[in-house]
Order: sequence, then structure tokens, then C-alpha cells
Amino acid sequence: MKMKQNLNINNLVRANIKALKPYSSARDEFKGTADVFLDANENPFGELNRYPDPKQIKIKEKLSEIKSVETNQIFIGNGSDEVIDLAFRIFCEPGKDKVLTFTPTYGMYDVSANINNIEVIKQPLINDFQINLNQLQPYLDVEEVKIIFICSPNNPTGNTINTEDIEYILENFNGIVIVDEAYIDFSSQASFIKNINKYNNLIVSQTFSKAWGLAGVRVGVAYASEAIIELFNRVKPPYNVSTLNQEAVLNSLNNQIEVAKNIDTILSERKKLKDALSQLAIVKKIYPTDANFLLVEVDNADETYQYLINKKVIIRNRNTQVENCIRITVGTSEENEKLIENLQLISKS
Ligand code: PMP
Repeated sequence: MKMKQNLNINNLVRANIKALKPYSSARDEFKGTADVFLDANENPFGELNRYPDPKQIKIKEKLSEIKSVETNQIFIGNGSDEVIDLAFRIFCEPGKDKVLTFTPTYGMYDVSANINNIEVIKQPLINDFQINLNQLQPYLDVEEVKIIFICSPNNPTGNTINTEDIEYILENFNGIVIVDEAYIDFSSQASFIKNINKYNNLIVSQTFSKAWGLAGVRVGVAYASEAIIELFNRVKPPYNVSTLNQEAVLNSLNNQIEVAKNIDTILSERKKLKDALSQLAIVKKIYPTDANFLLVEVDNADETYQYLINKKVIIRNRNTQVENCIRITVGTSEENEKLIENLQLISKS
């Protein structure tokens, strides 16, 4: 197997980040046990009066066991949206560098790029939403292209991207590849985490917002080489994940049986929902999915969307991304039934 020519990650980092002297918090400077802490200007009274662990070590130890990676190959962010934003700030020089995305895809890559004044090269996915490697080829050596985002399973299409295509990009692109696996726990495909020791330009991003059921908690994770994780730690705000949020994640990590049960339920509901949708006259196509949602082509997405709003059922209208498509998140059995009942009525009218 061809091995990645080991990229020098340092050459991809913005000069100001390379030169950055990171903030050193009180808890960075003293980590041991002691009787009296008078070092962080905290209030001595109350229950949440102390700053959280800036390195979230308990979470990392648990994830290290579950995912078979080292704790120094894990970054914990305020949602995986923070991972995306920090990647721009570490690797992309505003007004000069570029990133590449495959469309249609998750909207925050674009928004984060705009915030950071970075141009986005957009390549359309083809043949049921796979990457067109021929079209990508000329960009693999362009020095200004610093990051390629690959969302797999992809939002809003739901499919996973071919493993061989992702490996080809990792092997041939001289920049950072972010594989966004927000929905991977619903997928039959394996995670790319196992490749972080093989490709030092790979960042795998995951989240507690989907399969773990903790969207309100705002915790996302990046898995990458130690060198990349060190850069993320330099740039992040010192206490980016609150004590309450860290506790919520730890509870969930200690209750994996419940999480697995919920994933199973969502997957069986997804199948039921797909079968029910396929019976409806307004449904033209249901795309294959590896996520907790379905992309569905209907006669008229704008009308269907508006009709469902009037029935107090909210789905996502993706008509501007994929013509006449709606995106439906898999809910509880009752929620899905309510959706189907309403769509049956529209199909008859
Ligand atoms: N990546 C993808 C593909 C997503 O769909 C989302 C959320 N919809 C995110 C990342 C952001 O997730 P988080 O809640 O961890 O910020």
C-alpha cells in the first residue's frame, strides 16, 4: 500500500499561530492536589465556583479507551462547530488561503470560511452524491488550498463517501483533510479514526449532538495526530467546555448501553419511515442514508414544507440545495407517524 509522504504539518500553519504564545491558565500551571486554591481569582463560595478542567482529561481518558487512540490525539470543542472554526484559524490565512468542499453539504463550512475571509472552492458531488476525483485532481497541489472538508455521512444527502476516494485524497493532497463524521454512529461504514496514525494530515471530527443525544450540551471532538491536536489546544479559549457540559458527557459515556439502545431504535424507525414514505404518491425518490435523516425528493418541496408547517410538523426544506428535496430527521415512532399521516393527506388532496 502506498504510504502518505509524511507532510510537514508545521508548513501548513499560519505564521502568527506558529509564533503564538498560548494563554497559560492557573489550572495549566498547577494541576496537582492541594488544600487551598487561591490562584485563579475564583469565588470561594458556591458549587460551580471553580473553573472547569481546561484539558477535559476525564472525557479524553474515556474516549481514549472507547476509540483506541491516545489522549493527546483528542481535542474537545464547544460543539464540532468549534473544531471547524479553529481549523480555519490555525491553517488559513485570511484573504489569501482557500478551502474546498463538496456540495451539497453542511452549511457551516461556508459560514466559517466567510467569517474568516477564506474563499471556498465548491465541487458538486456526482452519481448519488460521490466525489468526482477527476474534477478534484487539479486542486490537490494548489498551495493556497489548505483544507478539504469531507462530510461522511454527508448532510443533507445522508450517504457515506467512498472510503477509497477519501484515502486517495488523504494520500495525494498536500493539506489538511477534515472528515466530518457527525453522523457516523448511524452508519454501517467504519470511522476514519483508525487512520489518524497513518495520515498526519487527517482530522476526524465527531460530536455528542447526534447519536449521543446531547445537542444541548455542545460538545464536539477532533481526533488527529498529536501535532495537530497541540495546535488546537494552543488556539482554543482556555476553558472552552464548561463543568456542567463535561459532566453531562461523562454521564453519557458511562451509560453507553442506553445510547446504543437509542441508536438501534432510531435505525429501526428510519427503516419504518422510509417504507412508509415510499408508499406516498408525492414521493419521487428516497436517497440511501447512513445518517439519522432521509433526503426525499417530492413533487414540490416548497409546498410540502409549507403544508407541514401549517400542520405544526417541521422538516427541512433543501430545495435550494437539491431540487425539490426535503430532509426529514428520524423522530420517535409517534412523531414519524404524525408526519406520515399528514403526508398521506397531502398525497390524497
Ligand atoms: N457537522 C455536521 C455534518 C452537522 O450536520 C452538524 C450539525 N448539524 C455539525 C457538524 C455541528 O455539530 P455540533 O452540534 O457538534 O456543533
